[in-house]
Parts: sequence; structure tokens; C-alpha cells
Amino acid sequence: MTDKKIIIAIDGFSSCGKSTFAKSIAARLGYVFIDTGAMYRAVTLYSAEHGAIRSGVVDDEAVAALLDQMSIAFRFNPERGASDIYVNGELVEGRIRSIEVSNCVSAVSSIARVREELVAMQQQMGRSKGVVMDGRDIGTVVFPDAELKIFMTADAEVRARRRYDELTAKGDSVSFEEVYQNVIRRDHADMTRAISPLRQADDAIVLDNSHMTVEEQMAWFMDKFAAATA
Ligand code: C5P
Repeated sequence: MTDKKIIIAIDGFSSCGKSTFAKSIAARLGYVFIDTGAMYRAVTLYSAEHGAIRSGVVDDEAVAALLDQMSIAFRFNPERGASDIYVNGELVEGRIRSIEVSNCVSAVSSIARVREELVAMQQQMGRSKGVVMDGRDIGTVVFPDAELKIFMTADAEVRARRRYDELTAKGDSVSFEEVYQNVIRRDHADMTRAISPLRQADDAIVLDNSHMTVEEQMAWFMDKFAAATA
């Protein structure tokens, strides 16, 4: 395998296994994995806990004002084989994937100040290359020159089923319908927002993993990686 370090950008719809895929790639290549969705989720959680989101209604100005007192950091957790996210030194990894956060995160991520701050942090994290970053705008905005761009998708029902299984396995009491509606709503919000909407970069390769195992996805990826680093 080549020693050449590149940036691998993985974008796509909600809950199509981007993070699982990106995490396995990073482990295989010895790259750093950065889950940018976790950063938008952390800002959402913090905003909810500090009065900038009330009864599901996001106050854009209040969220923007909180950014200055929020310090986001990742620390590698060897047990998970991935980095955990911290806000002001507090571990929030276990709380950012709740349905309450999922329901407000698209609104928070459409705030210009939030995107400016997080995009700048992400560009800083990837400056030495050797990173796999997953999100919605990595190949289009954060790293438009990334050497390998993958756009992931899967049937909405398959995606909702995966997220539902993940949440119920953790003991969250949610209905399948609630999770399905959240997936559909987030896709729509992410694709239609004014700033950095979710879209496939012209030079991205599509991976539809509706009917693929993790091993099949890895084999598919290694082929594309070899071509991108040849
Ligand atoms: O990837 P995940 O589903 O955890 O992302 C949560 C939300 O964060 C997305 O629905 C989207 O609104 C936002 N997001 C974004 N840009 C990114 C990553 C995530 O707007 N690069």
C-alpha cells in the first residue's frame, strides 16, 4: 500500500452508515477519522442545555452567541476505536445522538456562524492530510480538493431501520415511524438549506450500500483508494 497520505471526503444522507464506513477505513489505513456530524450535534446539545433551544425551537442568534463559550475537542478512545467528542472538557459522546438532538440539529447546522466556525476547525484538523472526514459538505466546501470523494446513499427505509436498531439497542424508547420521519425531514432540510446544502460533488463516486455488507463496502473502497493514490 502506498505511503502517500490523502484526504478522503465522505458525504451523504442521514444514517447511511457513513461513520461506520469512515471509521473502518481510517483503522485500515492508519488515518484519523473525523465525524463532523458529531460537531454539529455537540453544538445542538450545548445550545439546548443553555437555553438557546426551547421546546424544539432554535433561536439562531442565541446559538451563535454561545459559540464563543464553547470549546469542542476530540480525544481518541481506544475501546471504541474512534474519537469521543468533548465540549468544554465534558464528554458528550453518549448524549449527542438522541432523537431530541436529531430533531434540532439540521436547524442548528443551517446557521451561518455555526458553519463558519466548524468548517474552519475541520480544515485545521485535516491540514496534515491522512484523514477520513464524514459529513454533508466535506467534498464540496470543507475540502473541495480532496483526493478521494465518496457520496453515500441507501434506501430511506433501510437507513431508518439501521438508526432505529442502534437507538433501541442503547435502550432509547423510540418508534420506527419517529426515526423514519426524522431521517426524511433531515435529508430534506440538509438538501434545501441556503448555505452548503447537501449535494454530490461533481467528482465524487457514489456508493449505494442498501444491499452491501461492511466487507463488500471495504473491498469496493480499497479499489477506489488504490486508484486515487496510484
Ligand atoms: O452525520 P450526522 O447524521 O450525525 O449529522 C447530523 C446533522 O449535522 C446532519 O443532519 C446535518 O444537518 C448536520 N451536518 C452538516 N454538515 C456536516 C455534517 C453534519 O450540516 N458536515
